[in-house]
Amino acid sequence: MIKELRELGLSGCGDNSCFFEKSKGMSTNGGCRCRPHTWHMAVNKYRGEINRLEVENADLKDAWNKQGRALIKRKRKITELEAENAALVKAAKAVVAATDEARKQYGSVLSFRATTAIDNLAALLQSEGEI
Ligand SMILES: [Zn+2]
Repeated sequence: MIKELRELGLSGCGDNSCFFEKSKGMSTNGGCRCRPHTWHMAVNKYRGEINRLEVENADLKDAWNKQGRALIKRKRKITELEAENAALVKAAKAVVAATDEARKQYGSVLSFRATTAIDNLAALLQSEGEI
């Protein structure tokens, strides 16, 4: 207890009979004026605060770990979506290329609606820098 109080930076009252700290040099003679009870309360208060902070710290650690797991999950999802997107772009490129080829060979066989849709797809791929 006394060790803890000293660690908190408390010092004695400076009296000859001080129970807490032997006085160095000039000292009084009226009896120790330290208040162990008050100090004890202060230590308990600090202990309470430390416990509270430890609980808060554990909660923050939990939250941090949860966020980390969510982040990993999200990154996996992004990777999946990127792969899916790459497959779709590849398929779209193939459709555009096949349509170009069909136009060269058969021209008017393709309906206006079909060629418009393919042209829109080609424009999209171009705007995305894919072709
Ligand atoms: Zn004292």
